[in-house]
Amino acid sequence: MEKQTLGFQTEAKQLLHLMIHSLYSNKEIFLRELISNASDAADKLRFLALDNDALYENQPELKIRIEVDSANHTISISDTGIGMSKEEVTDNLGTIAKSGTASFLQSLTGDQKKDSQLIGQFGVGFYSGFIVAEKVQVLTRKAGLSPSEGVCWESTGEAEFTVEPIEKAERGTTIILHLKSSEREFEDLYRLRSIVKKYADHIAIPVEMLSSSTGQNSDTESEEESSKQQFETVNSAKALWIRPRSEVSDEEYSEFYRHISHDFEEPLEWSHNKVEGKLEYNSLLYIPKRPPFDLWNRDGARGLKLYVQRIFIMDQAEQFLPLYLRFVKGVIDSNDLSLNVSREILQQDPVVDSMKNALTKRVLDMLAKLKKKDKEKYQQFWDSFGSVLKEGPSEDLTNKEKIAGLLLFSTTHTDHEEQNQCLDDYISRMQEGQEEIYYIVAENFKTAKNSPHLESLRKNGLEAILLSDRIDDWLMSGLQEYSGKNLRDISKGKLDFDKFSSEEEKAKNQEEDEKAKPLLERLKASLNERIGEARVTHRLTESPACLALSEYDMGQQMRKIMEASGQKLPESKPIFEINMGHALVQKLDALADEDQFDEFAELLFDQACLAEGRQLDDPASFIRLMNKWLLN
Ligand code: ADP
Ligand code: MG
Repeated sequence: MEKQTLGFQTEAKQLLHLMIHSLYSNKEIFLRELISNASDAADKLRFLALDNDALYENQPELKIRIEVDSANHTISISDTGIGMSKEEVTDNLGTIAKSGTASFLQSLTGDQKKDSQLIGQFGVGFYSGFIVAEKVQVLTRKAGLSPSEGVCWESTGEAEFTVEPIEKAERGTTIILHLKSSEREFEDLYRLRSIVKKYADHIAIPVEMLSSSTGQNSDTESEEESSKQQFETVNSAKALWIRPRSEVSDEEYSEFYRHISHDFEEPLEWSHNKVEGKLEYNSLLYIPKRPPFDLWNRDGARGLKLYVQRIFIMDQAEQFLPLYLRFVKGVIDSNDLSLNVSREILQQDPVVDSMKNALTKRVLDMLAKLKKKDKEKYQQFWDSFGSVLKEGPSEDLTNKEKIAGLLLFSTTHTDHEEQNQCLDDYISRMQEGQEEIYYIVAENFKTAKNSPHLESLRKNGLEAILLSDRIDDWLMSGLQEYSGKNLRDISKGKLDFDKFSSEEEKAKNQEEDEKAKPLLERLKASLNERIGEARVTHRLTESPACLALSEYDMGQQMRKIMEASGQKLPESKPIFEINMGHALVQKLDALADEDQFDEFAELLFDQACLAEGRQLDDPASFIRLMNKWLLN
């Protein structure tokens, strides 16, 4: 085998370039990333060795060692982890297998500040070495292979890298960073030590560095002693989630979060628990500040890091949380599961189900607490993940009420697009005699806010929730009620505000209903094809007419989604509701000529469609008609 020169995959090249240029203000994170990888490699070895003890090669010690060679200006990070074969080196360090890389790169704006935040969400990993190094060498040998099957990977971080066979006695990986001349500050051991303390204290295996006293030879030391270098462990080297809460600082929680999530930011909130009794496990769950780039990818990263009795078992164990909590990151360490669990077993294990129920409750409680104690943070959570949480009520019937209490909305109370009102806020403002929670779903916020359906609610001082997220129709029909109160779509069925009206108004309404009967007959005959029914409404104050659905009809939004997904739906004709108090309706009523009546009826009907955010079947004919009547 000879030395081979290979080209980086295009995307790897782009990412590399971007990283080197956008992370200049936070260079030291390269050490965190490389230690994080070394720790993952140790986890993997320990897991594989459960079935195959020989992988330890009689050297069971798992550790990371950091050394500096100031003569050659290098830093090396060595681990006794799983190591890599030649194929693995080429695959893992030459291509980016992460799903969504292409779409991630597309989402970049070219604005360095914004992009450096984005890249944080993506996770920079191994390539971060190139932030400080002009050349990176990786010497590695996979556990279980012979010493002659070592590999040296080398690159200057430009277009190419080389791989070459080497002899490597010890298993594991050594990363050698040849520092750029501008980055020699990192040769300083004190500096390195403080970076390790800052970013890697939570790493569960020892990170060793040369002890600070070594090197300063005193005359009394024998030659043998002075040549023997003294290494000491600089981190806590203990699984963080096992430590008592009181002994872990906020900084440590944040760093640990970054290690497991590949996020640059601090977490928004976390919950660390030790559970004893029928089930025994430790859990550490985090809510991120911002959505990851792959939140809406079908195969995006989700799930928890699973350990069994401190031994790492798998990443992205999805079975411990429902899909609507897929934004939660964290670790779970169980004493009840067997060390050789697989994804398949997890799917059927009743222990996993009980844990899932408990963890779900844990997350919902954490959110409820956050909502109570810190409005601003909760708002941040909502803006990032609210639309995911909205999947909850339909997915998780047991916790429906709890989830509903966490939802935030826009309502006519604020009339503002920001979603910051909860159902309890709404209930606290309900009018005397009001039994239902009113809402409207529309294509977008403005259409909802200006919907004719809201006219009489506003007049009566009644509040309505304004909904326009894609999922809202689905959400509300799944919810149906909250706190014993019906959720009522005001565009469906008959609205009866009689109890909010005076006797005088009631009498007037009844009179209108009587008077309207012949007009309704004519309308029904004229718009026969397009409407299910025509009736008088008292919900309008300013508009001449509106469209309503019957109580059991599917909402417009849901209809569109279902149709877009290729489902055939039964035809549904809207109910045409007219406002007898409106001058245009009175004008319509007075038209004796049937052709004129038909045209005018069609105009009013099309208007009502538009106000609803619907599309007209024949927009050109609407405009022709309207222009004709404008000149009339
Ligand atoms: P990530 O850690 O998110 O997977 P990285 O860019 O940090 O991404 O690393 C890429 C891959 O390279 C890792 O998934 C791993 O397979 C491999 N790798 C990196 N460093 C090591 C190491 N010290 N030992 C073994 N494998 C490693
Ligand atoms: Mg990594």
